[in-house]
Order: sequence, then structure tokens, then C-alpha cells
Amino acid sequence: MFAWKRQFSIANTLLKTTTTTTARTMTTATPPSFQVFRDVPPLRQLRRTLLLSNRTVGLVPTMGALHEGHLSLIRQAATENTDIIVSIFVNPTQFGVNEDLSSYPRTWDSDVAKLEALNAELSQQNTSPGRITAILAPTSKVMYPTLPPSSEIDGDGSFVTILPLAKKLEGASRPVFFRGVATVCMKLFNIVNAERAYFGQKDVQQTVVIRRMVQDFHVGTEIRIGETVREEDGLAMSSRNVYLGVRRRGVGLVLYEALRAAEGAYLAGKGGREEVLDAARGVAKRVLDEQSWLGPAERALFEVDYISLADPDSLEELKVIDPAKGAILSAALKMAPLEESKPGEDCGLGDGKVPVRLIDNLIFKPRV
Ligand code: AMP
Repeated sequence: MFAWKRQFSIANTLLKTTTTTTARTMTTATPPSFQVFRDVPPLRQLRRTLLLSNRTVGLVPTMGALHEGHLSLIRQAATENTDIIVSIFVNPTQFGVNEDLSSYPRTWDSDVAKLEALNAELSQQNTSPGRITAILAPTSKVMYPTLPPSSEIDGDGSFVTILPLAKKLEGASRPVFFRGVATVCMKLFNIVNAERAYFGQKDVQQTVVIRRMVQDFHVGTEIRIGETVREEDGLAMSSRNVYLGVRRRGVGLVLYEALRAAEGAYLAGKGGREEVLDAARGVAKRVLDEQSWLGPAERALFEVDYISLADPDSLEELKVIDPAKGAILSAALKMAPLEESKPGEDCGLGDGKVPVRLIDNLIFKPRV
């Protein structure tokens, strides 16, 4: 049976004997149920202790601003491992030079509080063996020890590139994104040496890229995928949703609605590219037309970046869905900044001036 007390004593011993950074700003008086690591050697020491105690580690990589999507991955990790390490690192190399690195939401105190509450929930339920043992919140200098992290397309650095997967879909609009993601995940995998690492289906291309990287580089960490967690109305949870505000949030639902329309076509027996995608395109066109007819203080405009129907492994665009393989239906749209706001309107963080990229996907399961 799971020895929670023993875990606590392992963590406490390490707290006393290492130079680990403890929580930077713990807001509660009670001692934290996990350690916070800013550097690699103390984490490696914990990892060695866990290994020698026959414990298993699940890694949940995040960029913080935690929401239920992240927490669901941790809950899943808790069912399959004794110890969970959550990394919180806003990775500079996956943001393009014109992207929102500096404005990415950083919510350390509430992240720590959410993880504390989750550990309490896991202890009370006592159905999952795992608990959050550590947060890895490294500095950029720790993660990129030699050269400053570059976001330039031809910038210098030690990078992992997974081609051609990284060029497709999101990669077409964000050329350095998957190079940054693969590089930081490889670093995290090397540091934590977890039995399993957990990723959300919400970022489906990321799951395909990471699986390929693990396969091609013989990384000894098993990749596990958790379902997309949605708001009640279907909007996929995302740390960036705080920028939407009420008006753009409402219109942004078009993304899920469009995907569902295409899924409906697939479930009704259609398998040709155009007949499936036209269902989604029709929804997007209708909603954009409706918005265009409204005045600038009423509407929220958007641009569809792509709607893709792709092979689940290669991400090659499909002409026809192979019933034995199914497909990944994915889409991205850019919510434009609000043109005009009304007095007292909730326009979201950044007052509606920040463009917001929304991505979502559905997996079409094989028919046979
Ligand atoms: P991020 O902090 O946005 O980099 O996300 C960290 C992890 O959480 C990634 O594996 C994401 O795919 C996953 N994730 C983000 N949003 C959701 C969601 N709504 N449902 C499930 N997983 C998610």
C-alpha cells in the first residue's frame, strides 16, 4: 500500500540536506507538501532517492497559469505513479520573436495553491497512489546553460528538430514553436528521467511531435495523453483564454462548433476530405458573416488559420480517411483585437487589444 508518510519523510530529508530552493513565495503557514527546485542537481538527488526506493515518477510539463486541463493530467499521473513532478517553465525558445513571451500569464502563487489543494484532494480520496512531490521551476539560465535561448529561425543553440512534423499545421504559422517545444521537453526528460510524461490532447500536434522524438531518440520515458478538458460550453481550456473577454470568448466557441460539425459528418459515414471539412468551413463562414454585419462595438472578428484533416502519425493531409486508422481533425483561428469596446465591458486581460490564437482538435477513431 502507498506509504504517504514515507514520501513525506523522503521529501523532508532532502529539504534538510540539499541546497534546494524551497517555494519562493509560499503564502500559507503550513509546510508545503512538495519541494520547489530551481536547479538540476538537487532534483537529481531526489530522483535517485526515489529510484532506490522503487518509486515511480510521472512528469507533467507545463508553462504555469494552471487550470483544470493541467490538473487533470496530474490526476491521471497520480493513478499511475507514486511521485509526480510538475514543471513550470515559460519556455522562451518556443515563442517566435514577435510572439507574446513577456505577456504570457505568470501566476506562481495561485499555481502553488492549486497544486497544494490537489495534493490535499488526492490524499483525501486515497484512491490514487501518487502525490505531487516536487515542482521544477528552473530559470532560463538553468535550462539554457551555455547560449542565451534564441527564438530566431536560424538562431544558434542546441536544438532538437523533428521534421517534417514540426513544419506542419501550427508550425507553418509558428516556425520555431516545435523546435522550442521538442528542445525543452528533451531537457526536462533528461533532467527528470521520469517513467512517464503526461501531455494534453488539446495540443495534439505537440503529442505527435513528442511521441516521434521519444521514439527516434530512444528516450526511456513513456508518453501518456490526457483528454482535452473543456469549459461547460465546450471551449477548450487554455491559459491564454484570460485574454479573450466575454465578447471574443462567446464568438471563439465557433472553433469547437466547427469541429463538431465535421465530426458529425464523419460519424454519419462520410470519409472524403471535402465533405468532412466543408461541414466545419460552413460553420466558420456563417459565424464570421454574422459578426461582419455587426458594428465595431458589437462584433468580434476572427480569421481561420487552418482546418486540417490529417493522418494521426504523419500529420499528412488526407484526401480520404482510412477507416482502419481514423484521423486527426484540428483547427486554429486568430481572434482579432476588439475594434471598439463598450463602457464597462469585460474585454479580458489586455483590454481586448491582444490577438488570441485558439487551437482545438478532435480525434476521429478508426471505424474498424
Ligand atoms: P501549457 O502550460 O499550455 O504548455 O500546457 C501544459 C500541458 O497541459 C500540455 O501537455 C497541454 O497539452 C496540456 N493542456 C493544456 N490545456 C489543456 C486542456 N484544456 N485539456 C487537457 N490538457 C491541456
